[in-house]
Amino acid sequence: MQHLPVFADLQDRDCLVVGGGSVAERRTLLLIDAGAKVHLVAPELSETLAELAADGKITHHARVYDDERLEDYWLVIAATDDRAQNARIAADANAARRLCNAVDDPALCSFVMPAIVDRAPVTIAIGSSGLSPVLTRWVKGLLETLLPERLGALASLAGRWRERVRVAIPDADERRRFWEQVVNGDVAAHAFAGRELEAEDALRSGVETWAQDDPRRSGEAYLVGAGPGGADLITIRGRQLLATADVVLYDRLVSSGLLSYARRDAELICVGKTPRRPSITQKQLNRLLVQLVQAGKRVCRLKGGDPMIFGRGGEELEALAEAGLKFQVVPGVSAAEGCAAYAGVPLTLRGVAHGVLFTTGHTQDTDTAALTDFRPGQTLALYMGVAQYAELGSALIAGGHHPGTPVAVVENGTTERQRVVRTVLGSLARAAAELEISPPALLIVGETARFAERYSWFEPSTVEVFDEESARSLARVSY
Ligand code: SAH
Repeated sequence: MQHLPVFADLQDRDCLVVGGGSVAERRTLLLIDAGAKVHLVAPELSETLAELAADGKITHHARVYDDERLEDYWLVIAATDDRAQNARIAADANAARRLCNAVDDPALCSFVMPAIVDRAPVTIAIGSSGLSPVLTRWVKGLLETLLPERLGALASLAGRWRERVRVAIPDADERRRFWEQVVNGDVAAHAFAGRELEAEDALRSGVETWAQDDPRRSGEAYLVGAGPGGADLITIRGRQLLATADVVLYDRLVSSGLLSYARRDAELICVGKTPRRPSITQKQLNRLLVQLVQAGKRVCRLKGGDPMIFGRGGEELEALAEAGLKFQVVPGVSAAEGCAAYAGVPLTLRGVAHGVLFTTGHTQDTDTAALTDFRPGQTLALYMGVAQYAELGSALIAGGHHPGTPVAVVENGTTERQRVVRTVLGSLARAAAELEISPPALLIVGETARFAERYSWFEPSTVEVFDEESARSLARVSY
């Protein structure tokens, strides 16, 4: 280890910053955040620093650094834009045995400032011994996405209860097991969801029941949208809940990469419905979900796209509500949004498309009634129904849509197998047959579908233009 990470208590301690520019400003703000009494030596101040001085938040010594008594300070920061001057400050600090940070000059530093992930009172400091600030910021970004936003709430709660728990569970090993359960269980789930009262109640009853060796646990269901395919399109909250679940019930279309975020000892159950193959029915699935939650499990129901869009999430919620069970719903990027973005097709566009209709060609009674709601000036995003593309195309034309209306079909959208077929309504049936379009695919119909080629950006996606003749006529129209 080149540096020892320490967390310094600077509350009300005098610290010196030399420099009055933007770099000095950033360090000063951090020191103020940590409660330090900041003395700032600089002939001139940036606007923000001048405000801080005027508000009495820092003490400004308006002079050029020269023979300061560094023994008066706990920490010294050399943040002038003159390297020689910074070197002198660092040498003085060494002589006075005070830790010094010289900005952007690791060789002069006796301490370096880490990148900080702030979930106060939990603080994570990341350092690369001053070698690569960009790398430390990258690690910070990674941790920011992994850690629950309300991590600090759990730490504060644990802090408030620490003494009471010590008295109630005197054995240190037992106590550690108790706290592990707190961090992995209901208390944390409540705290991370912002339910502070419930978190406190769960902790209280946890302590009470622990003595009777009956750690009571209550189950909960998480309906989580996994996104349309690419594993990195799940939300941060979705991934966090996935990582805490005891059981994961996942759809066939969910990216297998996502399952690696589940706990190693979590039970993973595929409940995917494969078209035209016997599989678990929705009723059986609802029953399974309810039974698992009733048994005290935290169940992550991981669904492709968004759970509330053609995901039968409503039916699962009804089953849970009916049984009086607890649940949370986390939205996901739906296939229409994901496919449109990754195919470069705006779903709305000023002056061109003023509304979007999310619908399906594969309704219970297999009619195309929903399509009559689709009007020129809108974009149609059609889920499922690949086998009925011919009928759907005819129904739309019969309903008054021009056969030259642009169409984009996105197959396996947002994954590395993405394929985009761009054609026109009149050629959809032939395109589907000749190019063997197969599920999962999303059909986009409307004027903005023409941009699928021009705004194509996602690699390795391919774009196939079917029916060159109509494609050329499309290219002539511009917006
Ligand atoms: N709840 C999901 C939809 C489930 S219905 C959501 O919000 O996206 C399944 C249909 O979604 C598929 O038949 C297909 O039309 C569409 N779909 C899902 N993933 C897709 C993908 N990666 N590419 C194209 N279409 C997809």
